[in-house]
Order: sequence, then structure tokens, then C-alpha cells
Amino acid sequence: MVEPTAVDEIPKIREELQQSFLAGKMRPISYRREQIAKLAHMVSDHQEEFTQAMNADLGRSATEADFLDIQPTLREISEAYHSVEKWSKPDRVPFSLNWFVMSPSIRKDPKGMVLIISPFNFPMLLILGPLAGALAAGCTVVIKPSELSPAISGLIAKYIPQYLDRDVCRVVMGAVPETTKLLELPWDHILYTGSGKVAKVVLSSAAKHLTSVTTELGGKNPVVIDPKSDLKLAARRIMWGKFANCGQTCAAPDYLLVPQEIEEVFTKELLDVHSTFYPEGPRKSDSYPRMATKQHALRMKKLIEETNGKIIIGGETEVEDRFIAPTIVKNIHPNDILMEDEIFGPILPIVTVKNVDEAIQIINKREHALTVYVFSQDATFRNKVFDNTRSGAAIANEMVIYHATDGLPFGGVGASGSGGATTGKYNFDIFTHSRATLVGRGFVDTLVLSGRYPPHTPEKTKA
Ligand code: NAD
Repeated sequence: MVEPTAVDEIPKIREELQQSFLAGKMRPISYRREQIAKLAHMVSDHQEEFTQAMNADLGRSATEADFLDIQPTLREISEAYHSVEKWSKPDRVPFSLNWFVMSPSIRKDPKGMVLIISPFNFPMLLILGPLAGALAAGCTVVIKPSELSPAISGLIAKYIPQYLDRDVCRVVMGAVPETTKLLELPWDHILYTGSGKVAKVVLSSAAKHLTSVTTELGGKNPVVIDPKSDLKLAARRIMWGKFANCGQTCAAPDYLLVPQEIEEVFTKELLDVHSTFYPEGPRKSDSYPRMATKQHALRMKKLIEETNGKIIIGGETEVEDRFIAPTIVKNIHPNDILMEDEIFGPILPIVTVKNVDEAIQIINKREHALTVYVFSQDATFRNKVFDNTRSGAAIANEMVIYHATDGLPFGGVGASGSGGATTGKYNFDIFTHSRATLVGRGFVDTLVLSGRYPPHTPEKTKA
């Protein structure tokens, strides 16, 4: 267990990183690459410890820890390492006869000294992935891991100083008081991943310094089911997407919109998958994780007690052990408690709809989700949903793993996030300023651009 950083140390940490940024420590690409390589070594040298910590924090199996956090983190770091040179090259602008002599281009300048605040649910990927992007961009960085994943955050706090240059990256540990102190200070950019409620605090603090912010938030992700779709596939993918990480996944399906005509057969498919995934029941299964804290478990228990829906599977809770059974609830009215906020736990409400139009209407009454999911083999059906809704991502017949798809941005829109996306080059971009560059030439004054100088005579205007 690592102690929180002393609050009065925090301005000093920021000051040191600002000095090293200004001194040009991160300017050489070779140094950025060296730091990124060290980050990769940090993860691979201690992979076993990280796996165990993931089990301590979230009850994750080694497979789930590896698949959802450790491997994607290593891929992000590896992409940054291999691409830093290419990403950092200036962009050319389209050829123009008027301007080409001035060599217009776009420099890829580091924003400067940046702050990354992350949540508990993917405690490596969501902090070390963006860190790799910030290092590639040439920033100096403070990271603030979540206090709710103490084992992983503790390892990060222990190993970052052993692997990375302290003039380049520092870890601030702690919760609200420490983050509040961080937010009082000016930064050149903040990446905040977490809940919308805290995002409002982050954004209003940043506004005082006109600091740019990227927010990666959550929301209620709907799943629309085409009655003619492959229901077995849909059931298997939804059950995995929902109950992996005990439902504590920002891109997890939050609620299902199931047409009346298939409701019975589809719920049977869901129950079949449940017994395949957890043959001895989820309580005994090593593959089924836990809530992050007792408070989070208690919140789920209350939701289960207060819903007016019919629980068709699950409902068992054991708050002391942070255990909440995978729970499916049907007959959910759009005003039910399960439809109020992002569930962020293993409860899956089913809202029965007449048809796809009603499903779209229900989606559009809410704030924009991070992901709208559709299960359909019919492109017309899929496009109808995607064309008539808005969300960070529009995903068909898959769940969650689009985060790992090379080249796709991972980010929200409106209430689910703004200011850029994370993953791959998008991580680099949020910490990079695209700086317009032009090199003026004296001889253009003898050509067309001479007309700008006073006196503005009629001859010049005609010319
Ligand atoms: P959270 O907002 O409670 O905490 C996130 C970070 O903010 C933590 O580091 C925490 O210490 C800090 N924090 C908490 N309260 C604060 C306050 N009052 N002032 C300043 N800082 C504060 O989020 P969480 O519970 O850790 O994560 C869950 C949320 O994150 C969900 O809403 C989920 O959907 C979202 N999420 C989004 C993404 C994405 O990429 N879009 C990824 C993961 C999680």
C-alpha cells in the first residue's frame, strides 16, 4: 500500500516537470523512444505482479487481466515506440501555387506539461496507454492513478520511478484532496477518464487556467437487437461484454432493447450462455470478478432491491466479498431505477420494444452514450440505428473489444466525452499541438502580395 502524495509536495512536482520540459529534455525523439521502451520493460518485467494485483483489486482471472488490460497496454506502448518518429514529423499542406514558396507545414509540437487522471476499472490500460502517447508527443507528465485500485496503482507508483526519468514522469497518489490540489495548478493539457460527475469538477477547474481537457466518460450504452439476427451470437457476446470485469467497463452494454416477438427465445439464449459461462455458478467461478469496493457492491445491491423489473437470473449479493451475481432483469420500464444512471456493474436490464423505431426513440431521449450496439446481419437495419442516433462509437455484432482495433478512435461525444480520443495515434494527438508554420520570403512582395501595403490606391485594389 503506497501512501498518498503529500499535498504540499504537488506544486513542487509540477514545477520540476515544467523546468525539465522547458529545458528541452523530451525534445529528442531518441529520448522519447527510450522512455517509452522503459515503460514497456516496466510492464513486462513485472507482468506476474500486475496480474496478481488485478486479481486483488478486481477479482479478475489471469486470462481476463491479460486480455483486457496487460496485452492492450503493451500494444499501446509498442505502437507509440514504433511510431513516434513518424507521428512527430510535420504534416505537409496541400500544394498551392500561391503559398508553396513559403513552405507551409504543420509542426507537431508537444503541448508541454500534462496531467493524466485515471479511473479504477482498467487500472493499467487507461493510464499507461495515454502515458505512452504523451511521452511520444514529447510532454512531461504527471499521472494520478485511482485510489480504488490500490494494488495496481501501488505497483505503478513503485515502478515508474525505477524505470522512467523523474524529470519526465511523476506519479501523484491519492484521492480527492490530492486531485483537487493537482487541479488548482495550471497544466498544458489534462486527460481525465472517469465519471461525468467528476468531469464537471475537472472542467471547471481547468477553465480557470484555460487549460484544454480531454474527457473520456461513461454513459448508458444501449443494445438494439434485430429480431432476425443470430440470437445465439448476440447472447454470447452481450453476456461477455456485460459481465467481464463485473460490468465495470465504460463500453459495457448497459441495457438491452429487445423486440417483443423474440423476448422469450432471446432471454432463454441469455440463460443458456449463463450456465455455459459459469457451470458451477458465478460464486464459485474463478472467471467471475468482483466489484472494486464494498460501496460499489452496496450500490448494486440497492439497485437490485429497488428495481420494479422481474429478475430472471442472479440477484444474489454478498457485499462483504464485493460479490454481485450476474443479474438479468426483464419488464423494465424506461422510468425504472435501472434506467436512471450508468449501471457500471453486473446488472443487465431488458426493455421490451415494439420495433426498431421505438428503440431509437428510447436511445434519443437520453444523453449520448459511449457506444450504441446493434446485433443484426442486415446492413439496412444497422444503418437505420446508426444513422438515427449519436454516440462515441457505433458497433455491430461485437462488444467492447473495438477499443483494441488498430486505427479506431476510442472516445465519446457530448456527455460520454469530448476533446479527442484515446488509443494509438489518437493518444499522441491529444498531447500534441498542431502548430501552423510558414517561412516568409522577401521576393513575394514584388508579386501579388505587395498589394497589402498602404497606401491602398484604386490601382492596387483592381490589381
Ligand atoms: P471517478 O470519476 O470516480 O474517478 C476517476 C478519477 O477521478 C480517480 O482518479 C479519482 O481519484 C478522481 N476523483 C474522484 N472524485 C474526485 C473529485 N471530487 N475531484 C477530483 N478528482 C476526483 O471514476 P471511477 O469510478 O474511477 O470510474 C468509473 C467511471 O469512469 C464510469 O463512469 C466509467 O464509464 C468511466 N470510464 C470511462 C472510460 C472511457 O474511456 N470513456 C474508461 C473507463 C471508465
